[in-house]
Amino acid sequence: MREVNTDIVIVGAGIAGLWMLNTLSKQGYDVLLLEAESIGSGQSVKSQGIIHGGIKYALNGVLSQASDAIKGMPARWRACLTGEGELDLRGVTTLSDAHYLWSQGSLAAKITSFFAKKAMSGRVDSIDKNDYPKVFAHPDFKGNLYKLNEIVLDVPSLLKVLSEKQRQRILQIDTADCQWDRDHAGNITAVSCLKEGIKINAQRFVFAAGQGNAAILKQLKMSKPEMQLRPLHMAMVTHNTNLPIYAHCIAASSKPLVTITHHINSDGSYTWYYGGDIAETGMGRDSQQQIIAAKELTAKILPWVTLENARWSTLHISRAEPKQSGLSRPDAAYCHSEKNYLVTWPTKLALTPDLGDKVSELFSQQQLKAQYRADLEITASIKSPPISAPAWSDTGR
Ligand SMILES: Cc1cc2nc3c(=O)[nH]c(=O)nc-3n(C[C@H](O)[C@H](O)[C@H](O)COP(=O)(O)OP(=O)(O)OC[C@H]3O[C@@H](n4cnc5c(N)ncnc54)[C@H](O)[C@@H]3O)c2cc1C
Repeated sequence: MREVNTDIVIVGAGIAGLWMLNTLSKQGYDVLLLEAESIGSGQSVKSQGIIHGGIKYALNGVLSQASDAIKGMPARWRACLTGEGELDLRGVTTLSDAHYLWSQGSLAAKITSFFAKKAMSGRVDSIDKNDYPKVFAHPDFKGNLYKLNEIVLDVPSLLKVLSEKQRQRILQIDTADCQWDRDHAGNITAVSCLKEGIKINAQRFVFAAGQGNAAILKQLKMSKPEMQLRPLHMAMVTHNTNLPIYAHCIAASSKPLVTITHHINSDGSYTWYYGGDIAETGMGRDSQQQIIAAKELTAKILPWVTLENARWSTLHISRAEPKQSGLSRPDAAYCHSEKNYLVTWPTKLALTPDLGDKVSELFSQQQLKAQYRADLEITASIKSPPISAPAWSDTGR
């Protein structure tokens, strides 16, 4: 078996693994990233791409810790998109420069006065009717509309930009087929992959495998940290009406009734992708029932909209997160340090820079020194995985 030495092995090429590969490489470490399937194939490519600033989590009228932790994220991502941030994300497509929030009727007084508070300035703006996005610029729209300081990114282009300069360092390896070598103290010393005929020795191992982290921990016979899954049944409609929508529709609840994002397909069609409460409650419906629910909801909240040549479909995907009491949502990126390995979940795409900070701080505290240069001639025999196709590319078309 051939051997390679590197500083850090990361498992999982979703947004978390890719971000850390780039950040840690920039800090001078030698890093290899292992991916079982395709780049972004877990939650990342199925996400809606919204860089939340936390407003969604403040809909109950309380500026919670969740909205505090996440509040700086849009500015950090915006800086990266212009090439002035910690990573150069020029080349990533911004689908919308703002995300919106709308209610069918008037917003509850509590929420309206909350949005008017100083803490919200710069994060939520009311908009002049003349500036309404096309989808809401209709005489039948009688609700309230707010503009949030949140951007929406095209995730496949984000995965492409984060992976293209690092291709040689991203290897198609499923660690479920590998063996973890450990020393007497329980530190991981290497991952040995029989199928690929390679043993990778590293100083540190970072697990960023999303839902796959649980199986890795089981393989390592570790019971902590525990993972929780929040299953979702997303709905989508592919059509030929160019009517961009990036918005949460809210009712009385503290959660959006639905969050709709608009995506442009390579064949010139468009897809509206439905998340939020309808995806959570949709777990109790089969695909046909979920399609009916999504159609009925659309007719109710956007009655003036007609989507030409609409083809509906649904998909199941779970959010993978560190376990919380009562399945509540975690409110910051998560990084657990044990021996010489880390178990991570960004918990949101938007919070990936926060995860990058946490991992970098830990390695800095541990005074981890860059020591190795992996022999890329040896790893070149292993395929680099492709980028995952968008969630709707094989459905509803
Ligand atoms: C429907 C949906 C919509 C969302 N929308 C948003 C949003 O709009 N904004 C936002 O901020 N967040 C959103 N999120 C959350 C966000 O998508 C996730 O927090 C984020 O993508 C998680 O990234 P990750 O890299 O940790 O995991 P993943 O993207 O799941 O990647 C894990 C990777 O690890 C690989 N892997 C697993 N096991 C192994 C193994 N043994 N060996 C090698 N590789 C392995 C998998 O193949 C996968 O590619 C959404 C999530 C969902 C499900």
